[in-house]
Amino acid sequence: MEKLAILGGEKAVKTDVEDIFTWPIITDEDRNAVLDVLNDRSMSDTGVTKKFEDEFASWIGKKYALGFNNGTSALQAAMHAVGIGKGDELICQSNTYWASCLPCFSLRATVVFADIERNTLCIDPKDIEHRISEDTKAIMAVHYNGYPTPMDEILKIAEKYDLKVIEDVSHAHGALYKGKPVGTFGDVSAMSMMSGKAFAVGEAGMLVTDNREIYQKAIAFGHYDRNSDKYIDVDDLIPYMGLPSGGYKYRMHQMSAAVGRVQLKHYDQRCKEIQDAMNYFWDLLEDVPGIKAHRPAKGSNSTMGGWYNPKGLYYAEELGGLNINVYTKALNAEGIKTSPGGNIPLHTHRLFQDCDVYHDGKPTRIAYANRDVRLLDKSIYVGEKINSLTIKIPWFKRFRKEIIEEHAEAFRKVGAQYEELLKNEEADSAVKGSWNSFEIRG
Ligand SMILES: *Cc1c(COP(=O)(O)O)cnc(C)c1O
Repeated sequence: MEKLAILGGEKAVKTDVEDIFTWPIITDEDRNAVLDVLNDRSMSDTGVTKKFEDEFASWIGKKYALGFNNGTSALQAAMHAVGIGKGDELICQSNTYWASCLPCFSLRATVVFADIERNTLCIDPKDIEHRISEDTKAIMAVHYNGYPTPMDEILKIAEKYDLKVIEDVSHAHGALYKGKPVGTFGDVSAMSMMSGKAFAVGEAGMLVTDNREIYQKAIAFGHYDRNSDKYIDVDDLIPYMGLPSGGYKYRMHQMSAAVGRVQLKHYDQRCKEIQDAMNYFWDLLEDVPGIKAHRPAKGSNSTMGGWYNPKGLYYAEELGGLNINVYTKALNAEGIKTSPGGNIPLHTHRLFQDCDVYHDGKPTRIAYANRDVRLLDKSIYVGEKINSLTIKIPWFKRFRKEIIEEHAEAFRKVGAQYEELLKNEEADSAVKGSWNSFEIRG
């Protein structure tokens, strides 16, 4: 076998990668759709957005879709719409992008963090029940890095304790859980469509639900121009029509909506190519020690959708305990863009510990809570080790076998010659991962 590149051998990735990582795919169809909005001077209108909503609702299989200016606002509106308010607790995995939970602060609610499961990197269903209290209102199911959260288990717990379920689909547009699209299981789902995501249209977000009251509450909260009798017929909302109840303005920009309509038309077919490419890559690595695919088992009828920000599961014990930083450096030398880690657990950030954001004279995390929910952060064991458990994996957008094979060969080489690396291993404890991990263009 070829000598490791880090020890002076030739790189495994030799071929030009061309546009295999370029995303999203933008053609004249997208450009013209944006120009139409510009030329119509309809950037702040809602006609294009409403068409996009209708198409998105029928694509995902939900009755209602509501466009937002970003995923963060869609998530906040979803939290409000299921009734999260003063003193309520939202259960959410700690390893996620902050918008999965942080907007609950502005609703005078708080977050109870839960651990992730080592193989799915999604919330561990076995780590939820002991965190539930009288004040628990909802579970946030984040389909992390494209992996469909085990919804059967989540829904069972929600039913037992009478909790709402919100899905954060920002990483997993088009992913299936047991044959059904993620985002269709909970009471409401919200998602980002910013440019780094798999479904990428620019700054935009979407909320979907089958529940008329949730839909209307989300409208009333931040869509002042639709907060009228054309949309609103829920008794509690009628007296307050005309102004946004949240005091927010969350309308989607129509240039994003226009791109969204075009992207949606091609999304399934482009996802299919990503899935073929990513599954091919992982199939090539099935017997390679140290690294395992972050994907549902074959035959489970669950998929990774657009494979947003794909991860590999690192098993140092299969490589004599090789430090993950040494492992990824050896891969870098072979021509692989990778680094260890995922989203740093949010509970370790001071914003969730002692920051008094709203001048309550108390940390915002516990300003309205009936218990010190920060104490529950102590039992997040897997999440705190994220930087030694996962690494970033090339996110192939095109199914080009030769290039993918070269990338797989890099992992095979390093896995086969890890003992060479152990000999040369030097301590490297650099902090990896980030609060805002996403890739804009690949
Ligand atoms: C990107 C992201 C969001 C926030 O969406 P924006 O459109 O950036 O506001 C929410 N949740 C998760 C898991 C994300 O990755």
